Amino acid sequence: MNLGCGFVLDCCRLTIKIMKLIFLGSGSAFTVGHDNYQSNMIFESDRGRKLLIDCGSDIRFSLNALGFCHMDITDIYISHLHADHVGGLEYIGFTTKFDPRCNKPNLYASKELAHDLWYRTLSGGMRSIEGELATIDTFFEVHPVRKGGSFTWEGVEFKLIKVIHVDNGYFMMPSYGLYFEVDGVKVLLSTDTQFKKNLNDLYKQADLIFHDCETSFFPTGIHAHYNELMTLPAHIRSKIWLYHYEPGELPDAKKDGFRGFVKRGQTFELVREACRETQEAIAV
Ligand SMILES: [Zn+2]
Repeated sequence: MNLGCGFVLDCCRLTIKIMKLIFLGSGSAFTVGHDNYQSNMIFESDRGRKLLIDCGSDIRFSLNALGFCHMDITDIYISHLHADHVGGLEYIGFTTKFDPRCNKPNLYASKELAHDLWYRTLSGGMRSIEGELATIDTFFEVHPVRKGGSFTWEGVEFKLIKVIHVDNGYFMMPSYGLYFEVDGVKVLLSTDTQFKKNLNDLYKQADLIFHDCETSFFPTGIHAHYNELMTLPAHIRSKIWLYHYEPGELPDAKKDGFRGFVKRGQTFELVREACRETQEAIAV
């Protein structure tokens, strides 16, 4: 069937390889409640290998809630050094180190973060183990990603996208989002970012976007706020799933033209999801 759109035809034909994106939580850093956790996710490849995207202080609970545990964590990506993204690494590091069934997890992060991840974040609690002075290499197989670079996992190239998270007036603390393509579907995962024009090109290129979205009445300035995202054109909003939001009542995102707010446990089969959504959009 000719739908007049090469992307749709390709997408529908190539449903062999499925990459799942599972949201362990979709809440903000200080989410408290029974129905959500911090925004950490798992990519699961078609052969069952898992890549944990960020490892916050909620991680042992959010993994357990979906039936996972430390033994599932073989690969980790870290976007930046806030505790809702790295505060669970001590748990994963120790549990995998002292469980003989586990190998050392691979840890991917920008080269810029690798040094500070150990010396400013983890070493206080992790450098002393019985009879040994540990380093980050004691616990993790670190794969620093060079400036403007990418890493490849399960055949998918994940390009690091430097986004503006916090500007303290002296220097900028970035986060590193991810841009990747699975079977013709281009996906942007923003991680924590302010609302800035520098992402506009990627908004246009991506077929599917998972975007940081603050919903607080008292904006922090370090996250894209729902009201700011509302200023994006309708055709961009229609690609966006919102996450990293505060607990409490939420706006009607679907009515406002977004795909919606991601719920804890929500799973996206990236190829099929993009395909179905695109077909619906064309049918309309
Ligand atoms: Zn952050």
